[in-house]
Amino acid sequence: MEKPVLGIIGGSGLYQMEEGLEILEEVTVETPFGPPSDSLILGKMEGLPVAFLARHGKGHRIMPSEINYRANVYAMKVLGVQWLLSISAVGSMKEEIEPGHMVVPHQFIDWTRKRASTFFGDGLVAHVSMADPVCPVLAKILAEEARRAGATVHEGGVYLCMEGPQFSTRAESLLYRSWDISVIGMTNMPEAKLAREAEICYATLAMATDYDCWHQAEEDVTVEMVIQTLKRNVETAQAVVRRVAARLPVERGCPCPKALENALITQEEAIPHETYRRLKPLVGKYIPRS
Ligand SMILES: [Zn+2]
Repeated sequence: MEKPVLGIIGGSGLYQMEEGLEILEEVTVETPFGPPSDSLILGKMEGLPVAFLARHGKGHRIMPSEINYRANVYAMKVLGVQWLLSISAVGSMKEEIEPGHMVVPHQFIDWTRKRASTFFGDGLVAHVSMADPVCPVLAKILAEEARRAGATVHEGGVYLCMEGPQFSTRAESLLYRSWDISVIGMTNMPEAKLAREAEICYATLAMATDYDCWHQAEEDVTVEMVIQTLKRNVETAQAVVRRVAARLPVERGCPCPKALENALITQEEAIPHETYRRLKPLVGKYIPRS
C-alpha cells in the first residue's frame, strides 16, 4: 500500500471525511508516546494517498488538554505523512473575521499550560526553530483553494492557543485583543511544534465559529451557537481539503523537511539507546545507528 503523503487532522465537527475520500484501510497505530486520538483512516483523495485522524476521537470524547498530540503527530510521521493539514474551529478576535469566515494563520502563540510539547528529552536534546511555524507552501495552497471553494478567507494572522476547556473570561479576551490576535483556539499548540520536530509541513484551516466574548454586541459564546456555525463550516472545509489534495507538489521545496538538520545538540555517543529507538523515525536520517 502506498504511504500517505497528506495527513488531515479533523477538529471539532470534522470526525470523518464524508465525500471525496476513498477509504482503503483503518489502522490502529501504536506509538512510544501512547495511542493517538483514534484509529487512522487511510485512503485516496483526488488520487493522493492520505491519512485522516479525528483529533478529539470519533464522537468527540477527548478534550483539548487530554489529546495525545505527540502520539497523533508521531503516528502521521511513521505512516509517511509529509504534509499535515489541521482543520480547526476557532473564535474570532477581530471584527472583520466574521463567523463562517476561514483564516489561514501564519503565526501561533502558545498559551497552553499542561501539555507535553516535545518529542525530545530523556538524553536527546533538540532546539528547532519556530520563528515561522507554518509551512509557507502549504499555507498558500490552502488559502487559494479555500477561496476557490467559495469561502471568505483571511490569509495570515495570529492563532492564540489557550488551554481550555472553558472559553476566555472577558478580561482575558480583551487582553488578547490588545495583542492583535486574529483567532483563538485550544488545539494547534503543541501540534504545530511537534509537526516541526517531525519535519512535517503544517498549516491550519481555522474556521471561525463565533466572536469570542470581547464582542459586546453579540451574545456571549454558547456551545450551541458554536456548533451551528461549525456544521456549515465543516462542509466547506471538506471541499477545501479535496482541492488541496489535488494540487500538492510532489517534492517539498520548503525548509520544513530540514528542521532538525542543525537542531540536534546532544553528542551522538551520549544518546541513550532507548531514547534513540523511540526517536529513530525522526532522527534516524541524521544519526544512523543499527
Ligand atoms: Zn513545508
